[in-house]
Amino acid sequence: MTYTVTLIPGDGTGPELAAALETVIAATGVPILWEVHDAGLGVMEEYGTPLPEHVLDSIRRTKVAIKGPITTPIGEGFRSVNVALRKELDLYACLRPSKTMKGVRSRFEDIDLVVVRENTEDLYAGIEHMVGEDAAESIKIITRKGSERIARFAFDYARKHGRRKVTAVHKANIMKCTDGLFLRVAGEVAAQYPDIEFEDRIVDNMCMQLVQKPELYDVLVLPNLYGDIVSDLCAGLIGGLGVAPGANFGDDIAVFEPVHGSAPKYAGQDKVNPMALLRSGVLLLEHLGEDAAARRMEDAIAAVVAEGKVVTYDLGGSAGTSGMAAAIARRIQS
Ligand code: NAD
Repeated sequence: MTYTVTLIPGDGTGPELAAALETVIAATGVPILWEVHDAGLGVMEEYGTPLPEHVLDSIRRTKVAIKGPITTPIGEGFRSVNVALRKELDLYACLRPSKTMKGVRSRFEDIDLVVVRENTEDLYAGIEHMVGEDAAESIKIITRKGSERIARFAFDYARKHGRRKVTAVHKANIMKCTDGLFLRVAGEVAAQYPDIEFEDRIVDNMCMQLVQKPELYDVLVLPNLYGDIVSDLCAGLIGGLGVAPGANFGDDIAVFEPVHGSAPKYAGQDKVNPMALLRSGVLLLEHLGEDAAARRMEDAIAAVVAEGKVVTYDLGGSAGTSGMAAAIARRIQS
């Protein structure tokens, strides 16, 4: 069976990273037909939007996509394609696994955390306005529907992946209505998963505990804004954004992407680390049910990184994006 997957290479260093991904996935032998579509600045002139309808149609049809990073102009121009994708396709769950990999410099060892972030509501929805000239107001919306589906996603993920505990993160001591609802609903959902331990932490305490005792935690479920911040904290625990994979899920659509941005200053130089997109590719293979190929790919990435001979500059090596991808591909086939 051949899988059809939408591939959005992105811009900046995205196209080089996408080429690396194609090389490595081809080495796994999993037959994938890539429907390649551009999005972002490069298509603005032709389509009048950075996210043309045919790109969305492709994802709606294939139900699964993987994308490279896309540049978002600061302060002006179009809104983030990443945010638009999540909204248009109702990709309500953002998944960020943070697992230590030998060979990646980090202050910590043996980190194995999974952040499940609500993707559609909360302060992060950016519903705000000026009140006169010298004050501004932002509206925080949390719903039962939004809280329930993200909590269910976290528990289903935990059960499917043999994880032992889900921790809900909130500030319900202060935001008793909004975060209070999120926490209450998470507790109700938890009651339906007696095999998974459930606990909650106030977000500030959570941040301290994650840097002091990360080994105590497993799957974290958070509203959008805390999720945005805590997922970067967790990426920091494993060596930074350059190595962290990610995925966004709706009810029947999944879009995989690295956590880092388009690193435009390195575009076209065959320089940046392909690991984050490749590890997102591992998540993609798992999603397709190709667990054995996913393990082989993850192990090959880990072996090449641990060996440290054919790795990119950020890992202390001098290999390029394509060279590192080729080494991983060879490892898979060896
Ligand atoms: P960035 O992640 O692109 O780059 C910051 C720095 O991190 C780079 O200069 C580089 O030193 C390093 N870096 C990033 N990726 C790396 C890799 N794969 N290998 C080695 N080093 C790497 O962050 P930024 O400069 O803040 O953002 C650049 C653009 O990317 C912005 O327009 C931003 O909006 C966009 N962005 C897109 C996404 C996405 O598409 N999901 C995510 C974040 C940022």
